[in-house]
Amino acid sequence: MLVPTVRFAPSPTGLLHVGNIRAALFNWLFARRHGGTFILRLDDTDRVRGRPEYEVAIERDLMWLGLNWARKEKQSDRLAHYDAAKIMLADAGRLYPCYETPEELEFKRKRLLAQGRPPIYDRAALRLSEADKTRLKNEGRLPHWRFKLASEEVRWDDLVRGPQHIDEASQSDPVLVRADGTYLYSFTSVVDDIAFAITHVIRGEDHVTNSGAQIQMFKALGATAPIFAHLPLLVDATGGGLSKRTGSAPVADLRERGIEAIALSALLARLGTADPVEPVTSLDALAATVDFGRVGRAAASFSEEELSQLNARTLHILPYDAVRARLADDLGEAFWLAVRGNLVTLGDAAGWAEARLRGLTA
Ligand code: GLU
Repeated sequence: MLVPTVRFAPSPTGLLHVGNIRAALFNWLFARRHGGTFILRLDDTDRVRGRPEYEVAIERDLMWLGLNWARKEKQSDRLAHYDAAKIMLADAGRLYPCYETPEELEFKRKRLLAQGRPPIYDRAALRLSEADKTRLKNEGRLPHWRFKLASEEVRWDDLVRGPQHIDEASQSDPVLVRADGTYLYSFTSVVDDIAFAITHVIRGEDHVTNSGAQIQMFKALGATAPIFAHLPLLVDATGGGLSKRTGSAPVADLRERGIEAIALSALLARLGTADPVEPVTSLDALAATVDFGRVGRAAASFSEEELSQLNARTLHILPYDAVRARLADDLGEAFWLAVRGNLVTLGDAAGWAEARLRGLTA
């Protein structure tokens, strides 16, 4: 087996929720199982929505979960690499400037739809002469840049989804560089995956549609695409998307509500897999069984109720050493072993300690 190098690549535009954590966890467990490397990559090129405090929060959440990283990279430090890759693609004729405004593009899209045709970008920009481009520039228009897709079927063997194929001839050439010069994630991600020699891209199913174009970008930049594993999305008990009420709450909220990190990991590692959800006392126990072949293709259903129950079952088996630092000093191992079977959250131990005190002093 190829020794994996994987990355978890959150954008610091918000707090991590269970869906993000699931991707982080699978990356970490996979690297752990196969003696590989887990990289934290902060996709912090969104100047409008990105915030340093979210970066701090992301790192705190990962540390709480024990998902430590061997290396940390920030995309904002790597702009020169994206500039170089942009030139490489443009020189190879795979990146071209476009001058349409959003309104013009929307008009084209509507017209195609009205004609009953798929709204694929018509590559009008490829037909512009140098004189046209000069005129447009003189009008004050700044170009955005599109990747010229090769019109071929892209195939890959997804570790979760099995054989995949996307006909790129039926897709619009994706925009990689905005008119303000900023780069889109789909491009910077490929540049970084090449630079860090990422062997496996493990991420949510919402990215499947990017993968075909990204595989072409890897090739156009002279690299081989990594292996992909797209995890099915998490849904609530009714099959709907997670909402604040049903589980899209930030992970920090779960921590504050007394959920044990290892209980959350145990649930997220096993949801939607062929393996039972059961309490464990260490991430290594989860790493030992992580296997994309055992992840089902259907959306996995997350419930906070199940998490609370698993939290209680986890506390019932946690050894004293796992909680010692978080218990009041004088509560020893004997106390822990006597009360852990009654706890729903670790915070409940204080109540038991008080009861003991009352019993003793009565
Ligand atoms: N920054 C992207 C995201 O948060 C990364 C996706 C990927 O793993 O490729 O969705």
